[in-house]
Amino acid sequence: MKVLKFGGTSVANAENISKVIKILESESKKNKIAVVVSALGGTTDMLIEAGNLATNKDKKYIEVFQNIVNRHINTVEELIDNKNKQAVLNEVNTKLEELKQILQGLYLINEFSNKTIDKIVSFGELLSSYIISEALQQTVKSASLKDSRELILTDSTFTNATVKTKETTTNISSFFKKNKDKIVVLPGFVSRNKNNETTTLGRGGSDYTAALIASAVKADVLEIWTDVSGMYTANPKLVKQAFPIEEISYQEAMELSHFGAKVLYPPTVHPALQKKIPILIKNTFSPDEKGTLITKKGKDKKQPVKGISHIENIALLTLEGNGMVGVPGFSKRLFSALSRNNINVVLITQASSEHSICVGVFSSESKKAKHVVDEEFVYEISKKKIKPLLIEDSLAIVAVVGDNMKNHQGISGRMFRALGNNNVNVRAIAQGASERNISAVISHKDIKKALTALHNRFFEKQIKTLNLFIVGVGNVGGILLNQIKKQQDYLNENLLLNVRVVGISNSKKMIFEEEGIDLNTWSDQLQKGKKQSHKLFFDTIKELNLSNSIFIDVTANEDVAKTYKNYLRESISVIACNKIACSSKYSDYKELKDLSRKYNASFLFETNVGAGLPVINTLNNLINSGDKVTSIQAVLSGSLNFIFNNFDDTSSFHDIVKQAQEEGYTEPDPRIDLSGVDVARKILILAREAGYKLDLKDIKNQSFLPKESLEAKTVDDFYNTLKTEASHFSELYKSAQNNDCQLKYVAEFNNGKASVGLKEIDKEHPFYNLKGKDNIVLFFTERYTEQPLIIKGAGAGAEVTASGLFGDIITLGRN
Ligand code: ADP
Ligand code: ASP
Ligand code: MG
Repeated sequence: MKVLKFGGTSVANAENISKVIKILESESKKNKIAVVVSALGGTTDMLIEAGNLATNKDKKYIEVFQNIVNRHINTVEELIDNKNKQAVLNEVNTKLEELKQILQGLYLINEFSNKTIDKIVSFGELLSSYIISEALQQTVKSASLKDSRELILTDSTFTNATVKTKETTTNISSFFKKNKDKIVVLPGFVSRNKNNETTTLGRGGSDYTAALIASAVKADVLEIWTDVSGMYTANPKLVKQAFPIEEISYQEAMELSHFGAKVLYPPTVHPALQKKIPILIKNTFSPDEKGTLITKKGKDKKQPVKGISHIENIALLTLEGNGMVGVPGFSKRLFSALSRNNINVVLITQASSEHSICVGVFSSESKKAKHVVDEEFVYEISKKKIKPLLIEDSLAIVAVVGDNMKNHQGISGRMFRALGNNNVNVRAIAQGASERNISAVISHKDIKKALTALHNRFFEKQIKTLNLFIVGVGNVGGILLNQIKKQQDYLNENLLLNVRVVGISNSKKMIFEEEGIDLNTWSDQLQKGKKQSHKLFFDTIKELNLSNSIFIDVTANEDVAKTYKNYLRESISVIACNKIACSSKYSDYKELKDLSRKYNASFLFETNVGAGLPVINTLNNLINSGDKVTSIQAVLSGSLNFIFNNFDDTSSFHDIVKQAQEEGYTEPDPRIDLSGVDVARKILILAREAGYKLDLKDIKNQSFLPKESLEAKTVDDFYNTLKTEASHFSELYKSAQNNDCQLKYVAEFNNGKASVGLKEIDKEHPFYNLKGKDNIVLFFTERYTEQPLIIKGAGAGAEVTASGLFGDIITLGRN
């Protein structure tokens, strides 16, 4: 014999019930079966709501009641053939009339006892089982209905009754011995006490009803049919990558369900385990899928972690005080007080100092817990030996479960590293003595992030998802998006990195898409986006709270640079091509570096110097490996290099600068390049990264510009001076020619001092042959003494800058 249980969604309406009936028709050809059914999905909640409204004298209860009526009547109308329809409708209406009278009674007396709750909620399963058995009898001749209340006997703890196992087992087995029907339909959840009053087995209790029957008749299998294809590695509604566990042991299933895997009501496992009846979890809507088989042994010994579950709405109670140290009996009194008041303890931890005890309870019970515990310890509190009970709310528990965890080292290390790396703060930790589960108390807001991170750590091909938020999608930013689009598949396959762009903003608009913006249409989407605001951009990223979030600044905007701190403080990494932050006040630069360390978030800015060239990264490697930089010589301005490489006695300086601007090598205001400020910023950043505490004012800047050009008020005036002072520039060229030299704009750093300025470079020098817009950096260090370490190549241009940013993203992904 088999026992099949169908949950609320499986029997939510006529269409779903028809699917159930199909399954039953085919099963009944092979086996005798008992079918336990839940109420039509959502009915139990509606019944409780109607009861509460009526008790509070709120006439809206009539509306809710009417919804309940409609759902059931509609289901009958669609499901039952004309021949029987009227009879079934009459019976359903009689039951609903009885329900209505109870609700009217509540409205009058305003008292909703647990006993009445049970009376009311029982209508859900009583109605559904009746309708389903009638529908089934239309095609399966030998089918009948049995009221579970006649079989399952409990104590009188209404709403969460304890089953009297012995009597219940006898009742069930003798009933099924006599009964000859192929299919017997029974309502789940409902039971009775010895006074024949209706009791219930707790929310989700239909699973338990089915387990009691399976155990009593020693069924071959207990099948739990629901709306997902088994017990998953994590709640599939929260973790997209979760997948059904093929086989699992009773203990593992029990732990997972106890810690929140709602697919199985926790008490269900016990009766099945006692009689070694396998439990199979199946999907009513995909009956061909394998589902999850729960047996004594489980399977897959190699996999230490079998699943991750979580419980929401947890409060942490902390009892602490110096008076507890070395004095026995505090824990006992705490737990007795909680237990006397039926407060369920979900998790226990105790610091080894005995200075405090911490327990997790459901938030709904935290007020009561505070009251009873403070009362229990009223004397000690008055003597200040212990503090009044401390309550922290809005918490959740995540648990990692597996029989085989005890044989594997480092599981908890991996678990807490995964949480830590994602900035999930752990409030308390508990590990069962069986080492079958490790649980951590975290903030409610972190649930999704924690589950995703843990799932990723323990179950996925270690594919790491990077969530990018990019500000500034003009030339460089746009090219970066294009590069990412082209490279996504490669990164996924070769580096196990899933790079997705979740947020994009330009100076006007911004868009977000949690699953990743379609990079084929980002530009059109952005036009239709929300109005841009730095604050809203930050708030949205914080709100999304995704693991491995990275903020990328592809602007040259000072306001954007000011927001980096906020990101780092949320453990969101920052990648910047914007130089402002790293070249502003030393204290600001230092603060960002410190925040990055403190919050375990990277702050990368390779493109600040030499665009895509690996300048900063190389410098960092030197310093981190213990080398010391003594001197840096560099040509760091692509635009100035372009200008001086093209300027000769046949051209005018003015025209060359214009050309450089037109070809996009200079800033819109060419004075920023020609004044040397941009180069000064770059050498400042290199000096700082080499470990020197310098500010922009410390950098000597000998300008090659004549006084008139330096004093020009506008860009146009500036250009004019390039014409009027043409002879000044020709002189510079001629002098270099005469000395057999080339003009290069050089940045230097020597023993703590930095300068920038135009230099005549002779033939022997590595700078002499620098072409076009190339950059070159020479590092002289304690290890590179005679010959410097040289980095040379294109130091400007959108493709290479975007590629430098992309390099930072990948570096971060591989961390
Ligand atoms: P039923 O009404 O069939 O009893 P439930 O709603 O009680 O169904 O349980 C199924 C639901 O349990 C799933 O839809 C899913 O949202 C939730 N769930 C939570 N954790 C898990 C898990 N680890 N595996 C599968 N389902 C889970
Ligand atoms: N209908 C009850 C509930 O919603 C019991 C069950 O479905 O298992 O809790
Ligand atoms: Mg359920």
